[in-house]
Amino acid sequence: MTFSTDAIVLKITKTGESDRLLTLLTRDRGILKAFAKAADRPKNKLHMSTNLFCYGRFTFYEGVKSTKVEECDLNETFFGLQQDITKLALAQYFNELMIESAPVETDANEYLRLLLNSLYFLANDKKNIHILKSLFELRLASLIGYMPSLIACSECGEFETDPMYFNEMTGELFCCNCKGAGTKCYPLEVITAMRHIVFSEFDKLFSLGVSESSIYLLEAATEKYLTAVLRKKFRTLDFYKSITQ
Ligand SMILES: [Zn+2]
Repeated sequence: MTFSTDAIVLKITKTGESDRLLTLLTRDRGILKAFAKAADRPKNKLHMSTNLFCYGRFTFYEGVKSTKVEECDLNETFFGLQQDITKLALAQYFNELMIESAPVETDANEYLRLLLNSLYFLANDKKNIHILKSLFELRLASLIGYMPSLIACSECGEFETDPMYFNEMTGELFCCNCKGAGTKCYPLEVITAMRHIVFSEFDKLFSLGVSESSIYLLEAATEKYLTAVLRKKFRTLDFYKSITQ
């Protein structure tokens, strides 16, 4: 049986003499593993279209034991990612997060949209890289069902004080009078940015601007929160941090 869907290559494992085992994020079936037979051979028709970050319309053959890539109509390669080690490292972290958290065997349109847009902004220098990382992390946390409670103070319901207090383990927010146990103090601007990431319509998501002084606070908050809810360490994140700090 064959089927077609939009997909992006998240990971490649070389196997056999010249085969590639691809991990893809697909629009219709979420995370999918498929073999690209002989794709490592330069003359093979899948050679150019089954590289990392290749996005396009894929046709698969679904066998009893495994799924194979039949063909790919390539749409985008995000070539800019290959030109800069920092961008490449962040993009690979995005991919690892998707493999960890996107659904399997079901519609994953929102995940694909978040990833494609983030890679576009990253590859084309359209957005500060630290803001982009925060956008991706916190929006993904919300997508997988861990939206932090950012509407108001969990204790008294106050909407805004400057600063506010955020618990990076539980996602709870407190005003400057209630503070709350285990929280960290953040300027209101960081909380406002986090609210934008969580609550804005998708087409406004990437318009987020954050002042220089708050960018790193925002980055620390979203990273700690996402890794806390996923309860996992990410090798690609360690690498990204080793080259940016
Ligand atoms: Zn309060």
